[in-house]
Amino acid sequence: MTTMTASAPVNRNPVFDELGFPKDPDNLYTQTCEVMLGAAETMGLPHRLKIILAQPMSEIMVHFPVRMDNGHHQLFKGYRVQHNNALGPFKGGLRFHPDVHLDDVKSLALLMTFKCSLVRIPYGGGKGGVKCDPSKLSQDEVMRVSRRFCASIFRYIGPDYDIPAPDVNTNAQIMAWMADTYASMAENNKATWDSMRTFTGKPVEIGGSLGREKATGQGVVDTLVELLPALGFKSAQGLKFSVIGYGNVGSWSARIFAKHGAKLTAVMDHTGAIINENGIDTEALLTHVQKARGVAGFSGASPCSVEEFYKAKVDVLIPAALEQMIQEREANWIQAKIIAEGANAPTTPAGDRVLQKRGIEVIPAILANAGGVTVSYFEWVQNKTCTIWDIEEVDRKLNQHMVAAARRTLVARQRYNMDMRSAAYIASLDHIAKAYAVRGIFP
Ligand code: NAD
Repeated sequence: MTTMTASAPVNRNPVFDELGFPKDPDNLYTQTCEVMLGAAETMGLPHRLKIILAQPMSEIMVHFPVRMDNGHHQLFKGYRVQHNNALGPFKGGLRFHPDVHLDDVKSLALLMTFKCSLVRIPYGGGKGGVKCDPSKLSQDEVMRVSRRFCASIFRYIGPDYDIPAPDVNTNAQIMAWMADTYASMAENNKATWDSMRTFTGKPVEIGGSLGREKATGQGVVDTLVELLPALGFKSAQGLKFSVIGYGNVGSWSARIFAKHGAKLTAVMDHTGAIINENGIDTEALLTHVQKARGVAGFSGASPCSVEEFYKAKVDVLIPAALEQMIQEREANWIQAKIIAEGANAPTTPAGDRVLQKRGIEVIPAILANAGGVTVSYFEWVQNKTCTIWDIEEVDRKLNQHMVAAARRTLVARQRYNMDMRSAAYIASLDHIAKAYAVRGIFP
């Protein structure tokens, strides 16, 4: 099928000049906005909404000192970006990584707005992070960075205003420290338990939801399984797949997809790449990664180069590591027929154009990885209503949201004859536009 695409090479969008965007074509924020604005143009979104959505509502940058184990103090830089809250409180993860920059956090916050809207949960989009390398910090130092960062952004977040969650290099333990810090600082002590609701992805002992840890991977697979027939496959049974990143999203996606009968044959992470045409044992690989901190050295597969990894003949590739990993070069190497974006923004617009030209279908991040935020929403609802759902209820409700979002995307794709990424943005923008139509713009 010949499809139009919102991410086809176009002249610089006039909105970029109107808002003074940088001219650097590799800027992740400009790239993310370009796709959203392309979809907005196709559906005839009013200009006022384009400019509102092209910039975040608030960009918060903090610096905070932390006492290190050696007694010295180190100054850390942290961000919280609040993109849009037309549909509900800001929502999005916090990441700890040496490469955390304002533009990247802005991109991730924007993606959250569209993700929440696409799966129809009542949240807006936000994102944050601390520029640090947690692998070089002790557990105590990570705890002090987490608590001090939470204290630094305390006045900007809240249980019904902005609700952070885990992301790259942050986990349930870090959310527990932050929730505890927030609750300890909250003015009304009687609201202590309610203020813990400011963070999702908490351990189950303090209000975390069953099924949150696997939720993003579960959502990737729910979406894939729903879309496979529309993308030319009968079912997951017997499909070969590869994964980039074997952390939370990568390992859960792989293990759940394997349970549907698909065969993992290649994996790459920050330590190297491995391949085994006969199939990689997903559980054994996880045990290895937990001990060795990466896939390198796994005895159940052979090491391979990055190029060999991308060129592996698979049906599905699940990028589940960092942003911008599929650029033009990688897009030309890839042999998969479907890419399910477990990671946020793993494909650059230039990479996307190559994939489209080569007929490779992309299930975009705002659809494929929306399972995490959906179960975060379930956690928030359970905390708000003092209830605990069993895992079957969580899985069933998650599946309903993911399947509905996948169908919405297919409907938009058919209506506008577009690629899946643009279609997902259109299905999402449609909901946001309706909210603005009834709310209006103050004053
Ligand atoms: P994680 O920290 O658990 O795992 C990250 C993985 O990326 C690790 O396996 C690491 O080895 C790999 N990686 C890092 N640098 C790499 C490189 N240069 N080359 C190859 N691999 C590399 O993080 P996660 O929570 O699994 O998040 C992964 C992606 O999914 C991120 O884009 C994140 O924003 C997105 N995401 C996560 C969630 C969630 O619930 N955790 C939800 C939605 C989206």
